[in-house]
Amino acid sequence: GPAPEAPDQAIAWLDSHGRKFGHFINGKWTKPGKTFASDNPASGDKLADITDGTAEDVDAAVKAARAAFKSWSALTGYERGKYLYAIARAVQKHSRLFAVLESMDNGKPIRESRDADIPLVARHFYHHAGWATHLSSQFPGAVPYGVCGQIIPWNFPLLMLAWKIAPALAAGNTVVLKPAEFTSLTALLFAEICERVGLPKGVVNIVTGEGDTGAAIVNHPDIDKIAFTGSTEVGKIIRAATAGSGKGLSLELGGKSPYIVFEDADLDSAVEGLVEAIWFNQGQVCCAGSRLLVQESIEERFIAKVKTRMAKLRVGDPLDKSVDIGALVAPVQVERIKDLMKKGVAEGAVVYEPDGTVPAKGCFLKPALVTNVSPANTLVSEEIFGPVLVAMSFRTPEEAVALANNTKYGLAATLWSENINLALDIAPKLKAGVVWINGTNNFDAAVGFGGYKESGYGREGGREGMGAYLKQSWERDLKPAPVL
Ligand code: NAD
Repeated sequence: GPAPEAPDQAIAWLDSHGRKFGHFINGKWTKPGKTFASDNPASGDKLADITDGTAEDVDAAVKAARAAFKSWSALTGYERGKYLYAIARAVQKHSRLFAVLESMDNGKPIRESRDADIPLVARHFYHHAGWATHLSSQFPGAVPYGVCGQIIPWNFPLLMLAWKIAPALAAGNTVVLKPAEFTSLTALLFAEICERVGLPKGVVNIVTGEGDTGAAIVNHPDIDKIAFTGSTEVGKIIRAATAGSGKGLSLELGGKSPYIVFEDADLDSAVEGLVEAIWFNQGQVCCAGSRLLVQESIEERFIAKVKTRMAKLRVGDPLDKSVDIGALVAPVQVERIKDLMKKGVAEGAVVYEPDGTVPAKGCFLKPALVTNVSPANTLVSEEIFGPVLVAMSFRTPEEAVALANNTKYGLAATLWSENINLALDIAPKLKAGVVWINGTNNFDAAVGFGGYKESGYGREGGREGMGAYLKQSWERDLKPAPVL
C-alpha cells in the first residue's frame, strides 16, 4: 500500500511553539499557565501541553472581543468577506499540515481528515464569505449579536470551529472560542492563520481548557450569544444557565440516528452507506447511523452482507492512507464504550466482531454489530459514540417509523428504498432534523443542520444558521416608523 503520511511538518509546527501553548487573545499568544497534556490517542505519546484557561483568561478574551466588535461590525459585509476568503485560501494552502495535525491529535484516519474535514472547513469559510456580501439584502435591518462564546467538541475539531466561527464573523460578531480539551491543536494552528491573514486583533480569540473554562464562557455577563456543540448532558446545563440571561443560544447535541433499509433497497449501496454512517470517524459522529432498522424479509441476507463488509475494514495507524478505522479520541472514551457494551450484553445483546487483531497500544476498537436486542436495551437507547452498530428488524413501514422515532434524540435519519413513493411518504414522518434518502452523511454549508428533541436547539449552516448569528429586525428595539 501507499506509504503512511509523514508527521514531520506537524511535529515541526509543534516544536516551533516549544510544544507548549498559551491562549490566543487580542491577536497575541499569552504565556502558558497551568497546563494539561494533549496526547496522540494512536500511540499514547504526548503531543503538547495546553493551558487550562481560568475565568480571568476568559474575561481578557471577552474584553478583547468587545473592543474589536465596534470596528469589525462597522466594516461592510464585502470587507469582512475578504477576510473570510483569505482564511479559506490559507486553510487550503496548509491543508496537509491541518489534516496530519488533526489525525495525530484526534486519531481519525488521514483519508477522512484529508478528504472530508479540511475541505469542508475551507468550503464553510468560502460559503460564508459569500453570505457576508449579501447580508443587507437577505436580512434587512438585522445586526450582529456582539460577542459570541463558542464551545466545541473533539470529534471534528477544526470543522466544528469552522461551523461556529465562519457565520459569526460573516455577520459581524467577534468570538471567544474554546476547543475541546482532547483536541486543541488545529484550533491553535487556526489562530496562527488568523494572524497571518491579518485578521484584526480581538476578532477571533481562542481560549483552551476543560469544562470549567467552558462554564466561565457560558456565565460571562458580557457575552451576547452562546453556541455549543457537545453532549446533551452539558447542553442541558448550558440551557439552564443561560435561561433568562437574554443571551442568544444554539445547541447541537447527541443522537441515536436510525438507518432504515426497506426490502426493495439496493442492498450493496445500502451496505456501503452503512459503513459510512456508523464507522466514519470511529462512530464518534453526532448524526451517526447507529441504529440499523432492516425489513424482516431481507434481514438475514443484509446482516450477512454487513458482516462480510465489516471483515474487510482495516483498523490501525491513522496516518496510514489505507486505514478505514483509526483510534478513538482518548482512553476514557474506550472505557466508556466497553462499559456500555458490557451492560448491553448483560441485558441480552449478542455482539459480532470480525476476526483479526487491532494494535495493542493506543485507543483502538474493532467495529462491532449488536443484535438480539429489545428497544429497552441500553445499546439501543443510549448514544454509544463509538464503532458500534445496533440492529433491529421491522415488518411494515409503519413499524419502521415507530421504531425510528422511539428515541429521545432526533438529529438525523437515513432510509433506503427504490420506491420513491414509499421514501417520500416515510421521510416527513421521521422526527429528525435531516433525513437522507439513498445516501448518508451528505453535508453542505448551504443546508441547515440541527436536531429535534434532545438533539439540540437551533440550526447551523444554510440560511437558518446564518440568521442565528444575527439579531433580526423584529428582535431589535427599533423605534416605530413615524405616522405621516
Ligand atoms: P462534552 O459535552 O463533554 O464537551 C463538549 C465541550 O463542552 C468541550 O469543549 C468541553 O470542554 C465543554 N464542556 C464540558 N462541560 C462543560 C460545562 N459544564 N460548561 C461549558 N462547557 C463544558 O461532549 P464531548 O464529549 O466533547 O463530545 C461528545 C458529544 O458531543 C456526543 O454526545 C455527541 O453526540 C455530541 N456532538 C454533537 C454534535 C452535533 O452537531 N449535534 C456534533 C459533535 C458532537
